[in-house]
Amino acid sequence: MLFRAHLLSPHGSMVLRDIPDSAMVVDAAGRIAAVGTFPDVAAAHPGEPLLDLRPHWILPGLVDLHSHLPQYEAVAMDGEELLPWLKAHIFPAEIRFEDPQWAALAARIYFRDQLALGTTTTVVYGSVHLEATHRAFQEAETAGIRTIMGKVMMDQHSPDRLREDTDASLAQSEELCAAWHGRDGGRLQYAFTPRFAPTCSMALLRGAGRLAEKHSAFVQTHLSENLDELRWVHELFPAAKDYTDVYAGAGLLGPRTLLGHCIHLSPSERGVIRAAGAAIVHCPRSNAFLKSGIMPLRRWLDEGLTVGLGTDVGAGPSLDLWAEMAMACTASKLRWADQHTQGRRLDGLGLPEADRARIHQALGLEPDPPIAPAQAFALATLGGARALGMGDRIGSLEPGKEADFIVVDPARVDPAPDRGPEPAEQMLGRLLYRSRPAMVRASYVRGRLCHSQDA
Ligand SMILES: [Zn+2]
Repeated sequence: MLFRAHLLSPHGSMVLRDIPDSAMVVDAAGRIAAVGTFPDVAAAHPGEPLLDLRPHWILPGLVDLHSHLPQYEAVAMDGEELLPWLKAHIFPAEIRFEDPQWAALAARIYFRDQLALGTTTTVVYGSVHLEATHRAFQEAETAGIRTIMGKVMMDQHSPDRLREDTDASLAQSEELCAAWHGRDGGRLQYAFTPRFAPTCSMALLRGAGRLAEKHSAFVQTHLSENLDELRWVHELFPAAKDYTDVYAGAGLLGPRTLLGHCIHLSPSERGVIRAAGAAIVHCPRSNAFLKSGIMPLRRWLDEGLTVGLGTDVGAGPSLDLWAEMAMACTASKLRWADQHTQGRRLDGLGLPEADRARIHQALGLEPDPPIAPAQAFALATLGGARALGMGDRIGSLEPGKEADFIVVDPARVDPAPDRGPEPAEQMLGRLLYRSRPAMVRASYVRGRLCHSQDA
């Protein structure tokens, strides 16, 4: 099939490749066979059936690297910080997944909503329950969305009805991995999912690391989100140098590891994460909602850390990765403004230059340039794919890759839809800052139509 539309995609090291009248050929196996200008590609593929999508645009599908399926019903519970919020709102919602029927229905709604928002790859935390996680995988298999998922593991400091026996947690996780990891040509994969250090014994953490390595599966967990959490980890694991060292000591850090949040990392922790090849998942709406902090995205990227984006439902309010991109930009601007303002105030104190420079540096007041929409879009597509080690398969629209793409109608978010041609970055800015489900006309995974507004 030859798709004709305006194409926008990261491309190799380019943040954005813009082809106003493009053609993309997808073969019967769901791979991208050709991308280029319409006249060139059409001439090289005579007789290929044509689907003319103009005036819509085609973009790579979005990659959501972090969210919690059983928390979807508990979004927008405002008030607390991380630890009391988990207790008051999240654990009760996760207990409901004792009921596999509810888990199946919740998963159907969840994956449907993700595809409708243009997310074609999702990395998901389930609940602790074996059967609920089987049912969620079945729903992902049917929905067609590319899914990396695992049941949460926790054997301490959690409610009685969610606290697991260590060996049972490991055995059930391995059973799920055996059933689902690599299914449907690798569309479904397994992530061993120790929730976070406070709810996991060292035996459980080590066991999870061992199993992930044995099965070449993913690992996902949370790291350095909230200052009370950091203090608690320090009390629970006094032998560890820092929070990251708990996971490093358990053998959990590697190139298939996704670390949610990573707001308050020290320089040495960043060095360990970078050397391990693990990826950081930035979830700025969640970080704002729980008052956790602003992750220094620009700085982490400049240091060579691998970063992608996640909605972190239910601390994030929705599965809308466009809104997450917008918030990544907004948070970086707030950080810039704060650094800039504090720097000006410091200058106004009239301190000797040596003192001024020392305080300036200690507080990190050199303003980090904000993130632009095109960069946020690259993080939510190719950046997410690279974080998964799948940058050669998905994340951009290039020949040889699997055809995970979405059809978007920019007129749905444009107050002046009759305007003429304009720079793609401006259109992209509107998609991010003014996102709404109606703008995603269709979502394809490996060339298969998984969501359509015309259906
Ligand atoms: Zn989370």
